[in-house]
Amino acid sequence: MTKSQQYFERAKKVIPGGVNSPVRAFKSVGMDPIFVSHAHGAYITDVDGNNYIDYIQSWGPMILGHSPEFLIEGFEDHLRKGTSYGVPTLLEVEMAELITSIYPAVEMIRMVNSGTEATMSALRLARGYTGRQKIVKFEGCYHGHSDALLVKSGSGTLTYGIPTSLGVPEAVVKDTLVLPFNDIEAFEALFEKDGADIACVIVEPVAGNMGVVAGTQAFMDSLRKITLKHGAVLIFDEVITGFRIGLGGASDYYNITPDLTCFGKIIGGGLPVGAYGGKKEIMSCVSPLGGVYQAGTLSGNPLALYMGYKIIKHLEQHPEIYTQIENNAILLETGLKDIVEKRSLPLSVVRVAGMVCLFFCEKVPTTYSEVALCDTLAYGSFFREMLKRGVLLPPAQFEGFFLSAAHSKEDVIKTLEAVDGSLETIGLGN
Ligand code: PMP
Repeated sequence: MTKSQQYFERAKKVIPGGVNSPVRAFKSVGMDPIFVSHAHGAYITDVDGNNYIDYIQSWGPMILGHSPEFLIEGFEDHLRKGTSYGVPTLLEVEMAELITSIYPAVEMIRMVNSGTEATMSALRLARGYTGRQKIVKFEGCYHGHSDALLVKSGSGTLTYGIPTSLGVPEAVVKDTLVLPFNDIEAFEALFEKDGADIACVIVEPVAGNMGVVAGTQAFMDSLRKITLKHGAVLIFDEVITGFRIGLGGASDYYNITPDLTCFGKIIGGGLPVGAYGGKKEIMSCVSPLGGVYQAGTLSGNPLALYMGYKIIKHLEQHPEIYTQIENNAILLETGLKDIVEKRSLPLSVVRVAGMVCLFFCEKVPTTYSEVALCDTLAYGSFFREMLKRGVLLPPAQFEGFFLSAAHSKEDVIKTLEAVDGSLETIGLGN
């Protein structure tokens, strides 16, 4: 038995499924998880001493790779100054100033502790601001695990076939209206009918929880146009895309100003952080300025903000990082496409900026129902072969590959060699 297997046996006795977040269980790729010893740059090492090129990167936060030296410097000093106060710090102001200066759509921002908290709070705010109840979300978009949003969701819920969770009261989701992603007609028709009752529309502009599925420009433009027309709040969930598909995120990518934006992942540099922000008029409804209550003992935690601030500042000062990541993503994309073509495989490759996905279905999916056609069993076999060859991919078909600034061209080339060999071994070779 490997050490990972031994630890997993212990874990299963005291943690549901042995993990603190479902996709970590590696269940959908037909194996037990590896347990991590440490990680550095693009590489992660398991407790049995195996080294892998890591494309999980903590599911997105580590855009600079694991534990870059400059992020660690000074961290210990901060620890010594105290880890949480429950009283304001200057760092909270500086963080808010930094994000609002980079994101024109965000005039005011509130820090929370996770992406789930950010989206949950943004929904409450939109409802409080508009005085309306109904919310609109799209199939396959995952916005965390708050009750109202766990309907036809993505990520682990899609992976495990429970897009709508048990335990979510019907009364809570009766006002959650779910539409197909990228379907302009359905969206406009719903607003024609119910527009006056809809508080907000929440969307992952580039959905990263059903693989990588980009909203079309026309779809995104329609979301903006129609929500403005009907006085509904448009919420961009940029928990993945924020500071990833460019410094200005999806808002910049699509040239659209949403009313509210949710962040997480990168803005905490690997520590637990989330945030929601947007128009001053709307954000002014948040307590203690307004009547929408939202609070947090650890919100704006000094250690998390120390990491987050440094990482965002670094990205702002080094925009070339985005070009480097994108160039490597292009190398990966073209390499994957070449392999797929050479072997005439029923697979498709998608890339949006630095986000890449290899779908085990022939046609590039644009909706949840198309994504659901993927051969997840074949993905599982592929994943296991890649792991044997020293590459850690997301242990689920419905997640993107996360590249970081620490991934080198050589890492990508090694990855492509592993892909070629793995596809051959699982019988998708020539
Ligand atoms: N929104 C999106 C787009 C996400 O990808 C996630 C998490 N993967 C969340 C919200 C929830 O964030 P968290 O896991 O930090 O609660």
